[in-house]
Amino acid sequence: MKMSQLFVQTLREFPNDAEAISHKLLVRAGYIKKLANGIYTYLPLAQRVLTKISNIVREEMDATGAQEMLMPFVQPAELWQKSGRWNVYGKELLRCTDRHDNEMCLAPTHEEVVTSVVSDIVSSYKQLPLNVYHIQLKFRDEIRPRFGLLRGREFIMKDAYSFHTSQEDLDREYEVMGRAYTNIFKRCGLETRAVQSDSGAIGGSVSHEYMVLTDTAVGENDVFYCDECGYSANSNHAESFLPVEEVDGGFDEEKLVDTPNVKTIEELSKFLNVNENCILKAVAYIADSKPVIAMIRGDKEIEETKLLNALNALEIRPMENEEIAQFLNSCAGFISYRDVDTSKVRVLFDKSSKGMKNFVLGANIKDKHYVGSNLPENIDFVDISCVKAGEYCPVCKKPLKMTRGIEVGNIFQLGTKYSKPMNACYTDSEGQLKPYIMGCYGIGITRTMAAAIEKYHDDFGIIWPKEIAPYHVDVVPVNIDDEVQSKVAYDLYEKLNNLGIETVIDDRNDRAGVKFKDADLIGFPIRITVGKTISEGLVEFKTRNDGVVVKITPDEAIEKCQKILLN
Ligand code: ATP
Ligand code: MG
Repeated sequence: MKMSQLFVQTLREFPNDAEAISHKLLVRAGYIKKLANGIYTYLPLAQRVLTKISNIVREEMDATGAQEMLMPFVQPAELWQKSGRWNVYGKELLRCTDRHDNEMCLAPTHEEVVTSVVSDIVSSYKQLPLNVYHIQLKFRDEIRPRFGLLRGREFIMKDAYSFHTSQEDLDREYEVMGRAYTNIFKRCGLETRAVQSDSGAIGGSVSHEYMVLTDTAVGENDVFYCDECGYSANSNHAESFLPVEEVDGGFDEEKLVDTPNVKTIEELSKFLNVNENCILKAVAYIADSKPVIAMIRGDKEIEETKLLNALNALEIRPMENEEIAQFLNSCAGFISYRDVDTSKVRVLFDKSSKGMKNFVLGANIKDKHYVGSNLPENIDFVDISCVKAGEYCPVCKKPLKMTRGIEVGNIFQLGTKYSKPMNACYTDSEGQLKPYIMGCYGIGITRTMAAAIEKYHDDFGIIWPKEIAPYHVDVVPVNIDDEVQSKVAYDLYEKLNNLGIETVIDDRNDRAGVKFKDADLIGFPIRITVGKTISEGLVEFKTRNDGVVVKITPDEAIEKCQKILLN
């Protein structure tokens, strides 16, 4: 490819609507162009990267025996009503109506379609197990599509679905997929860690996320892990071992005290001169339109996903001030579980409150708290709190560490979550109808591209792992009008391409500085510069990842490219 013809426009400045470095670089280096919020055109450079990632995914999936197909992006509501998700999926599901007034949606995922297709075709246990996948667009009307390809509204996903006659067979396939995932990401140049996760709207019981661990702030997930035993979990699912701590507020009797305008835990702790862990905090939520109070030790925070699961609810949100008055007859900052009608309001106690004594508690009266309160008898404590680094591993009790991660893929055991409601069954060896036991396995193709940039970049641009770089080599003649330079450069360009090394020649009539900047920005793994030293028979060979430059002959440069790229 000649740079003069490549459909790319690099920009001098970063776009000002981008926060994530991958977003900034993808736009500035001419990989993507925004059409609408969270919706992008993948320009030729991006398309080459996406094709490479997709091909790695294909090869590894095919090697496990999974079969590629392609399912529709626009889907009838009927299917989603059958699975029960039409009303549950919420605003991320983009719905529309066709000319015949049929309700439709844009696929956020494909469980419904695949379950219906397979159940039409597979009727006997003899046709199982089966694993089918596709690489297809998804649309999710994400609430904050602000990180470019890391969280788009329209994005590309590989999703695979497996069908089994037993849990053991699903377990086996789940492991096969896990190994394939590790290989896929490794081949993309990315180390991943499989962490236990919450199954969210997709459902099921066992699931793991494949995380690229990054220190950059945009990794959207906190991951807790233990170096000792290997435990690792997404923060929305992580557990910790907390030795029951006796914390005594030190008040010898219960009293109602004035706490005028003292609303936050921090203010309350200062005002009453007690530690935050001597305050029993109440947080009020609406879960599936019903009021809930979550009680937790003052120094801890509620993990809303864990709360959602503990309540077995589909949706939760914090209570609004008017609802606090209406449902709890209370006021924000002074809420308590006491004196509320527990037949109407559900009250949960986080395990962190175990061991609290003579503590501070809201009084459900504006500007008043109790001091010296104690817990009621016979509480069933639940785990609904965020883990903090330094708390102990739930498996081996060593201190947990925290890092940030980008979820590039995940694997779920769905069981019969879809096959049962959709009545998708096979006949077993005894002639009985049974629902399929299913698994599903997703990889964000576009997110993987962005994650690679989050992981590999510097101040000058992208540093592609060679396996997924759009091109391998950029040959730069410093002065394209110089006959000797131009001849050597074209010669290199042709020879490299003939060897299967994907090479660009920067034939633009631009200053060398401009060409070098673009080479770094776009992120070619190798740059070969043909300049004045060609009079001594030498070119400059630069590797992007370490910035090392050596002067060698053109033939040596070709050999070096082969050595670096083709093994
Ligand atoms: P997240 O928690 O990040 O929203 P998810 O749990 O909704 O992800 P899945 O439904 O399991 O994700 O989708 C499988 C894969 O698709 C994810 O691992 C991720 O790589 C990718 N993915 C999901 N949502 C997006 C998005 N909005 N933009 C880009 N990729 C996405
Ligand atoms: Mg999501």
